[in-house]
Amino acid sequence: MSISIGSILDAFKTGAGPSSSHSIGPQRAARFFLARSKQQPARFRVTLYGSLAETGRGHLTDQTIAQALAPTDCEIAWDTQTDNLKHPCTMKFEAFYSDGSAPTVWTVYSVGGGNLEDDAGPIGNPEPATYPFLHIGEAIRWCEENRLSFWQLAERHESQLWPRLGAVWDTMRDSVARGLKSKQVFLPGTLGLPRRAPLTWQRAQQLQSPQRDLASLSAFALAVAEENANGGAIVTAPTCGSAGVLPGLLYYYETVKEVPRQKILQALATAGLFGAAIKANATVSGAEGGCQAEIGSASSMAAAAGSQILGGSLRQIEYAAEIGMEHHLGLTCDPVEGYVQIPCIERNMMACLRAFECAAFSVLTDGQHLVSFDDVIDVMYTTGHDLQSAYRETARGGLALLWRKRMTRPPPVSS
Ligand code: SF4
Repeated sequence: MSISIGSILDAFKTGAGPSSSHSIGPQRAARFFLARSKQQPARFRVTLYGSLAETGRGHLTDQTIAQALAPTDCEIAWDTQTDNLKHPCTMKFEAFYSDGSAPTVWTVYSVGGGNLEDDAGPIGNPEPATYPFLHIGEAIRWCEENRLSFWQLAERHESQLWPRLGAVWDTMRDSVARGLKSKQVFLPGTLGLPRRAPLTWQRAQQLQSPQRDLASLSAFALAVAEENANGGAIVTAPTCGSAGVLPGLLYYYETVKEVPRQKILQALATAGLFGAAIKANATVSGAEGGCQAEIGSASSMAAAAGSQILGGSLRQIEYAAEIGMEHHLGLTCDPVEGYVQIPCIERNMMACLRAFECAAFSVLTDGQHLVSFDDVIDVMYTTGHDLQSAYRETARGGLALLWRKRMTRPPPVSS
């Protein structure tokens, strides 16, 4: 556990979908391992454990690692038997040499949002911790004493904040626009799931508000989630699986409500602050905390951003973020066939709509409430650890199990 909130940019990593913990993290690990191998290896072996072994095929983990280590030959071993793992997304990298010298071995954990750790600590120089506190409650007190907003707080503690957030927002916007225009009929994989964003967007424009607003929000969130499922370039917010929620909401405010770009970037800064607090105090990994840690976190971040755009005070923004998480508590992760498609894509849409409602409600209140954002993050973390592993990105329970039973059901006997 951290001693302070890290950079808000750590919640926003640009990469290729479909999964931050199962594709971006393993890809980064493979590159680090390649760089630390003593000499050119003759071959690699990478053993995937836990959630990576259970859902890695659907999440393209093996392909991602093999591409990162190419052209050297790489064997992928799937170990679903070893339990008592230090982290549910554990990988063991081994490099073998033609001169017979001892192999290089490295065990590394993909801890969520594309971040990595090994037994010595975080890997890959994550953004340095820059804030003098760990909790949002302390951030509110600091802002009140200094008469600052959340985004001004971020501005004071991060270098090059606006150009860096500008680049993040450009990638987010592109992912929405690409998803809305896509001509691809079916997403990759065996489910045969059709893309829905382009038609939803077309139909939205034939409606009157408020249905038009809700349909537009749905289309924008679906667009990014479908791009992610297709392995397209997206930004984690805070993960790949939940990458449609925050961009969906902000794209709505920028393109439909004509909110100026600078206000969108300020909202992104506030969302990032709440995401960084979740990463520092709990987890954003579906394999560790269930879908509440991914989609719940995304909805919470988007609700904070939306409340700020609507003119919310510090306490109203914090309330929006709290509700965004509270009503996702207990949400399980059970991706069908291990693809980040069912329930993930629709879940982005629902969480975006919920964030919109949380933000709207928060500014109707005086911001006072009994369960704080910091409290609900603690509850999310403990609830996540209480969930059986079948509901933490192993595709062994819930919808994934239902699908597996359906696929193995014997065909009806004809008379
Ligand atoms: S169910 Fe949620 S946590 Fe699990 S892979 Fe899908 S989006 Fe991620």
